[in-house]
Amino acid sequence: MIFGKHINKYYFKYAHMLILGILALLFVDLLQLEIPELYRMVINGLEYGEVEVDGAMLPFDMDFLVKQICGPMLYIVLAMVFCRFLWRVCLFGAGIKVETDLRSRMFNHSKHLSQQFYHKNKVGNMMSYYTNDLETIQECFGDGVLMMFDALLLGGLAVAKMVQMNWLLTLFTLIPMAFLLIVGTVVGQYMTKKWEARQEAFSALSDFAQENFSGIAVIKAFVKEFRELWAFKKLNKDNEKANIEFTKASVLLHICVTLFVESVICVILGYGGYLVYTEVFNAGQLIEFISYFNSIVWPVMAVSQLIEMSSRGKASLKRISELLDTPIDVKDNEGATPIQSVRGDIEFRNLTFRYPEADYDALSDVSFKINAGENVGIIGKTGSGKTTIVDIILRIYNVPDETVYIDGRDVNEITIESLRAACAYVPQDNFLFSDTIEHNIAFAVDDYDREEVMRFADLSDVHGNISEFAEGYDTILGERGVTVSGGQKQRISIARALMKRASILILDDSVSAVDTETERTIIQNLRETRKGKTTILIAHRVSTVEKMDKIIFIDDGKILAVGSHEELLANSSEYRKTVELQKLDEEEV
Ligand code: ADP
Repeated sequence: MIFGKHINKYYFKYAHMLILGILALLFVDLLQLEIPELYRMVINGLEYGEVEVDGAMLPFDMDFLVKQICGPMLYIVLAMVFCRFLWRVCLFGAGIKVETDLRSRMFNHSKHLSQQFYHKNKVGNMMSYYTNDLETIQECFGDGVLMMFDALLLGGLAVAKMVQMNWLLTLFTLIPMAFLLIVGTVVGQYMTKKWEARQEAFSALSDFAQENFSGIAVIKAFVKEFRELWAFKKLNKDNEKANIEFTKASVLLHICVTLFVESVICVILGYGGYLVYTEVFNAGQLIEFISYFNSIVWPVMAVSQLIEMSSRGKASLKRISELLDTPIDVKDNEGATPIQSVRGDIEFRNLTFRYPEADYDALSDVSFKINAGENVGIIGKTGSGKTTIVDIILRIYNVPDETVYIDGRDVNEITIESLRAACAYVPQDNFLFSDTIEHNIAFAVDDYDREEVMRFADLSDVHGNISEFAEGYDTILGERGVTVSGGQKQRISIARALMKRASILILDDSVSAVDTETERTIIQNLRETRKGKTTILIAHRVSTVEKMDKIIFIDDGKILAVGSHEELLANSSEYRKTVELQKLDEEEV
């Protein structure tokens, strides 16, 4: 069994299943303890020709065998089969339900964690929470309850029967049990540490494998397969080592249990044999005693497995708790209210912003105003802070009060969900789901028809390409959209964002992989379809944004100039320099 703040409530939630399972288990155990008495009757019947039943001596004949032995045995076996089925369904079922509930909670919590969390925690590690760790918790919950109660019920009842028969022989059999518990507790603690190390080694391995599969194209292009294989081998070896250390401890525990069982059998045979010799016991009673002892072998094994399982469970629960206890750092401020029918005014007022854990400011004293319905270009060198501006508009990170305003309202007073609902975004590193092109384009909307999807694909100039695919809009895209080119991927992402018909559309370097002609068509379509709505286009090249209503020119986290292309040419020497340099570049090409 496993206890912890994130798991305790499930013992109440699934109490009905647990109680029914435990009752079925109790019934099985009581029935099981009827069997040794039947053994005694058969052995004594064979030896003496008559058997004592409820104080009366009955002859050991065919009638006795059918009525007193086979009949009850059949009833016991059938009832045990049914009850075993019942406790399996109830106890293992409860374990599976807990796993499902926890998984949903973890997924829900993970969704709300900030981008920063995902910068620090790799996908492989996250996946091992959802696979290995959850499986262990499920095992601990279902099997754990079973083992604990079985050990208590069957063990307790069998010991009671043994004490009734001969307390001294019982005492001799129980002494090694005390040793087992001491050894088990010590080894269990050691195993918790080893399991944690094993889980970490496995996480590192799956992180590495996941990153390698995602970056396979880069690895092949740089002919680094051998180096990667070498690195993988090392991690695999570490994983093997951690596994072996855990298995060693597990085997040690198992050996202790076997030692206990064997030593107790020695005691029973020695002292029990003596009791038969001195006629305290007859042969049938010794067999009955040994049968009771056999019934406690499984509970004793269960104790050792319980210790081992709990140690693994504790380590896995600790890891899962770390995830569930990770604070949601980007969340609605107290009193935040939804923003309704966003117009699309955006204002930054003297915002200085530093990424969490960074040691320099990504934006310094940034101020600008975008009016609703404007087409705005943001231009600047790589690393100048363009994407950071987008991250802030979308409230991916926290910002100080009174620095960023949407429709004149401080973003900190607006609920994040309503703010993001008003925005459509095409990220630089765009992502397509392993789904049909139609579902990818219509990702933001629930109600749509094929014509609409085609219209938006046409506006982002990708309809022609899609029509060429044999399955058209039903073409399934591979993981991360590998079956389409970079340019097609960008344009499908633009269609997806356009279809949201949001008040604010942000395209982050989203036409970099398309040719100039297509870029022009898309920008022209944007102008026409998004009249009255705010559109922000981040670009490297001045030519992409020169026709925009307003250009924000940024360098090294500082705004150098804001205005139309003509205004910037007239007022900003840096802008003029950039334009000239880019012209020279184009001429050279
Ligand atoms: P641009 O979009 O203009 O290329 P960014 O806005 O992405 O530039 O980055 C601005 C600066 O902030 C860069 O120096 C970059 O290294 C840094 N930066 C970006 N994202 C993070 C992050 N998550 N954590 C820390 N620093 C970051």
